[in-house]
Amino acid sequence: MPDRDALLAACRLLDAAGFMPQKSGNLSLRRPGGFVITPSGLPYGAMTPADLVECASDGTPRGAGRPSSEWRLHAAIYRARPDAQAVVHTHSPRATALACARRGIPPIHYMITLAGAEGRYGIPCAAHATFGTEALAEACVAALGTELRATLLANHGVVAIGATLDSAVALGREVENLAGQYLDLLAARLEPVPLDAGDLAEAAAQLKGYGRPV
Ligand SMILES: [Zn+2]
Repeated sequence: MPDRDALLAACRLLDAAGFMPQKSGNLSLRRPGGFVITPSGLPYGAMTPADLVECASDGTPRGAGRPSSEWRLHAAIYRARPDAQAVVHTHSPRATALACARRGIPPIHYMITLAGAEGRYGIPCAAHATFGTEALAEACVAALGTELRATLLANHGVVAIGATLDSAVALGREVENLAGQYLDLLAARLEPVPLDAGDLAEAAAQLKGYGRPV
């Protein structure tokens, strides 16, 4: 199935970029009445499209295979955000480093508008909860609210959502890029200058004109 192939290709791309160390991270796509998600504990190199696991919207697997241990996170996002068609969760290194300081990313670069909506720009860091738990799913959904498309997870990693798989993957990569810029500024002891609301609104409008993929 082409969407399973696309999901697996996205996993391999992110894994090759170093975003999924130790088989971490997981991806899913919304389905009618549920979602399809990467399986638990399989290295991405050995995974085939048949290993992806179909789940009902409450996370119950619809066939063989064990879904990712973070299936609760994916299920909660699809319940809370009707606009989410794909969910990307990574442990990309620089964003995860920032998440270990429980810090979000301020709007220091206009590309952060890809992750937000008018009046709410900046990538938050969700409250800490143990991986794989409903508490983590709730913390993530609370941090995303009704409009944000990306958040850090404290001491853990990154979640990005999108109206398409491509846009969710692109946003996951952009979060890593933005986190790197922010960490570089902090390491150089430079004071980041956030963009103001007007600058951000203008940048968002400009990006829309470029046909942003979300
Ligand atoms: Zn994780």
